[in-house]
Amino acid sequence: MMKRLAVLMCLLFLMAPLSGCFGTSEESVTDNTSIVDDASFDENNTTGGNQDDQPTPVFSPYDVVCPDGSNETVQWGSVTCAAPVAFKAADVSNETLNLTLEWYNIASAEWGNFGPVELFIVGENVEAAKDLEDLFCERHMALDDNWNEEWDCANENYQIFSHYTDEGGAAISTFKRTYIEYDFMMMIMSAKYPGPSEDDYKPVTLHEYFHIFQHSHISDECTGDSRDTCERDSKMGGENTPWFAEGGAEFMAQSLYSEQDGVGENYLREVMQRKLETSQEGYNAQSTSLDQLTYSSEVNVYDVGAWFIAYLIHHEGEDAFLNGFYGDLDGLGFDAAFEDNFNATKSEYLADFDAFFAQPAEDVMLLFPEASTGNDETTE
Ligand SMILES: [Zn+2]
Repeated sequence: MMKRLAVLMCLLFLMAPLSGCFGTSEESVTDNTSIVDDASFDENNTTGGNQDDQPTPVFSPYDVVCPDGSNETVQWGSVTCAAPVAFKAADVSNETLNLTLEWYNIASAEWGNFGPVELFIVGENVEAAKDLEDLFCERHMALDDNWNEEWDCANENYQIFSHYTDEGGAAISTFKRTYIEYDFMMMIMSAKYPGPSEDDYKPVTLHEYFHIFQHSHISDECTGDSRDTCERDSKMGGENTPWFAEGGAEFMAQSLYSEQDGVGENYLREVMQRKLETSQEGYNAQSTSLDQLTYSSEVNVYDVGAWFIAYLIHHEGEDAFLNGFYGDLDGLGFDAAFEDNFNATKSEYLADFDAFFAQPAEDVMLLFPEASTGNDETTE
């Protein structure tokens, strides 16, 4: 049953303390293009008569109808018109669904809309989460002949959503595997750590979407067995070494969030300051290289990783990171894409970063100069 654990998960337990600092108002967005309440997925594909005697096309879950009425086939790694297929547990409100989609759409508008994505929003009720697991199972049984009910659906040893009612957090899983036919990415959001009433829910949604951006730039399929190595892990920055993947998602999410209306103009500086305060001393006092830290390392790899990406983008520019590196990653692999776009090897860059991060905190913070207008009414 260990193979169930091979999904690439990213749990965000770590952001809960950053709550309640900002005065953004609750908005709800009506986005009825992406809400599907049940497992019937093929209604879009039965419209349009065949005047000729052409054979009816074989149904494919990749065929979608765009909001403008045109047809499209979703391809992994290509920008698509397709909205995420969204599901929520029975105890999750439409307001939460709309909030999640609103921030999902901010991210996909910024970084490109990729797919296929299935969004599942879990609440606090375990039975409702289990019902969502049943829906997930039935949906993929119907969509994919190779979906294995015994392995791929939830069971007593494999919780897909129900543990989120207790543990909270958010995650992306990739279902791009050698043994299944219908590849997709799954975004899971939950009711706590952070919950939808916390401002952190918004940058966390952006953070999760950035993982979709990352995974969309990697075509490798994994076996689904965690004992097998998978090139996808290497391209993300290493198996169980989340420095680059989490650092990138975290910095890009906070950076994009800081640009939104209603967010204080020193927001990004303050977030990065907090990350520095919680991680700098501990990181510099130990000898494990950033690219070897794991999710369970004492040093918070999200925080130092975010600083690494901030440092990288400061020197190379966002375009070299987003378009250069991620554009080359699938073809070249991690190390060569890194060297080609950032003009140094990974090791050289890590050494430079360590020297940068060893400076006094006020010197490190020079990367984020204080906003000059002094008109920051909402923060603190
Ligand atoms: Zn993450």
